[in-house]
Amino acid sequence: MNFESFNLHPSIISGVRELGYVTPTPIQLQAIPPILQGQDLVGLAQTGTGKTAAFVLPILQRLSQGPRGCVRALIIAPTRELAEQIHDTTQGLGKQTRLRSVTVYGGVNMTPQIQKLRGKAEIVVACPGRLLDHIRQKTVNLSHIEVLVLDEADRMFDMGFLPDIRKILNHLPAHRQTLLFSATMPDDIKRLAHDILRNPVTVQINHTMPLTTVSHALYPVEHHHKSTLLMRLLKHADTGSVLVFTRTKQRAMSVAQRLKKAGYIATSLQGNMSQNQRQAALDGFRKGSFKILVATDIAARGIDVSHISHVINFDMPDTVDAYTHRIGRTGRAAKTGDAFTLTTQNDNAMVRAIENTLGMKLERRRLEDFDYTSPPARSTHAVPLQQSQRHHRRTGTGSKRAGSQMSSDSKPRYPRTGAKPFGKRRSSHAAYSSGSSARKPHSSHN
Ligand code: AMP
Repeated sequence: MNFESFNLHPSIISGVRELGYVTPTPIQLQAIPPILQGQDLVGLAQTGTGKTAAFVLPILQRLSQGPRGCVRALIIAPTRELAEQIHDTTQGLGKQTRLRSVTVYGGVNMTPQIQKLRGKAEIVVACPGRLLDHIRQKTVNLSHIEVLVLDEADRMFDMGFLPDIRKILNHLPAHRQTLLFSATMPDDIKRLAHDILRNPVTVQINHTMPLTTVSHALYPVEHHHKSTLLMRLLKHADTGSVLVFTRTKQRAMSVAQRLKKAGYIATSLQGNMSQNQRQAALDGFRKGSFKILVATDIAARGIDVSHISHVINFDMPDTVDAYTHRIGRTGRAAKTGDAFTLTTQNDNAMVRAIENTLGMKLERRRLEDFDYTSPPARSTHAVPLQQSQRHHRRTGTGSKRAGSQMSSDSKPRYPRTGAKPFGKRRSSHAAYSSGSSARKPHSSHN
């Protein structure tokens, strides 16, 4: 089954290709056909399942016919980060459709939003509070809405947004398609669904990709030791393809340079590159001619390389969602993967937020033979990747693992975690086969 079988408009299919999606995920397979038929839908799925494209693609299909210049689809999300992600996906998938989407959330000046809304977008991605402000000030016209999406409804409930949502509903046409996505179904969400959906189809994807197929580990380290530690992780790790994330474009470039100098077959993927350079980097990584890709979050969006064995967060991401997305790059398609994060003391709050979301403590690791006390600007001791791979080639059932050469910290700077030993948390479950829901903390406000 591929995206062509949904009979989407060619301009939309070109967006799908551009984002590098090849095979629809289970939520996309199940949700896209009924949404295309105009049915209401409850999607029990969480971040990492591809749920965004599951509703964005049919919306683009519907909106590519009919009037332009009025708001016809409204997507409500709990946080500005999620709103931006949905907007990015909409822009990426809808690039050739010339449909326009704007984001509306609090904490920023209203005027640019008003200007953009006046610019007549067809899709609005909004957080509830700020959207209500626009409704009250009559700076948004929702009378032409054909599709309403409530994304991460349970999280909106947790954050106390249900009353706002009910107020917003009063300003929408009664005749519309409504789609509700939620990782869990608390009673209040069930009631809301019952009140606002008409004969909905329910699709359920029981999986939490990061938990079922990915082993997570943190490597606490001083900032100036990060490069050396990265080299050591690569040296020890039983690596296939490695995706390294940095916070900035400059850091992506410099880390890739350093890796290349040390003999690794690495490249970077960041926003300063031309489209051709980006494509060459991606193609090379996909084919395996680059073993390591150093990327920023934005640049890495949509990368689907089934053989990524390790995601290494050189820098901690800014949000829990970004962590989940990064980690979702490994462990895809029923494969297992490792997610290493280099953390400094500045990252402690984000570590706690991630642990809350995943509902488990992450294992802290220390390399036994690594000098954590050396002063800055020490040289690295890299071993070319191919050489290390010869040393640590996977064998049949048991693979020699990064963890086998490292020990958990016997005198950790952090409390012991109680997490299961690294290798044992690994699951052979298919990526989409089992799940528990993890609630997210209030990472940002409306
Ligand atoms: P979501 O659950 O919508 O937040 O998506 C999680 C990640 O999967 C995002 O980075 C998407 O770009 C990516 N993604 C969504 N659908 C697909 C697909 N069919 N193939 C590959 N990647 C996908």
